[in-house]
Amino acid sequence: MTIRKILIDMDDVLCDCTGDALRHMGLHGWVRESYPIETRDIYEVYRLATGVQYSPAQFWEHFKREWWANIQPTPWCHDLINLCTEYVSTDRIALLTSPTKCGDCLAGKLDWIETNMPKWMHRQYLMSPRKAFCASEGVVLIDDCTENLEAFEQDDGFGIAMPQMWNDARPFIGKELEYLKNKLDNFQRWGSI
Ligand SMILES: [Mg+2]
Repeated sequence: MTIRKILIDMDDVLCDCTGDALRHMGLHGWVRESYPIETRDIYEVYRLATGVQYSPAQFWEHFKREWWANIQPTPWCHDLINLCTEYVSTDRIALLTSPTKCGDCLAGKLDWIETNMPKWMHRQYLMSPRKAFCASEGVVLIDDCTENLEAFEQDDGFGIAMPQMWNDARPFIGKELEYLKNKLDNFQRWGSI
């Protein structure tokens, strides 16, 4: 299968959103490997740790533009971008990130891109909660969220999970790039995993 485009999620793929968010909310001990549940539900993790139940909107109200702009890049952030350039030209790679309902998030994500991404990516981003709208044959999405990947594949795209505690690729935590490269190679060669 010819890979036509590669779309890369930001949160928990290129930046440590979950870890930084939990630390921002006072849970300094949380590290990726100790995430206590097998779902993507950060609100439930926060409730388990503190007894406080927030709705998504209430939770994300605590995060302003500056926070979104300064999330730590993941250790493999730049190597992942470089890996993608081995499969498609740079004009065929874009970020695809879902903002919260808070406008500060949108603005802060743009700041983050300008601070952390190579210049050629500064105008190559898509911000949408509906990632499957970008799916079609030969288009790859690299994302940590199982629901996003499933929806993307239902619309004929190809989803690759970034290994995280909350998805099925968790055994490959610590070997992230090796795992992604293997998936990309297999998709290119066989059109499947
Ligand atoms: Mg994500």
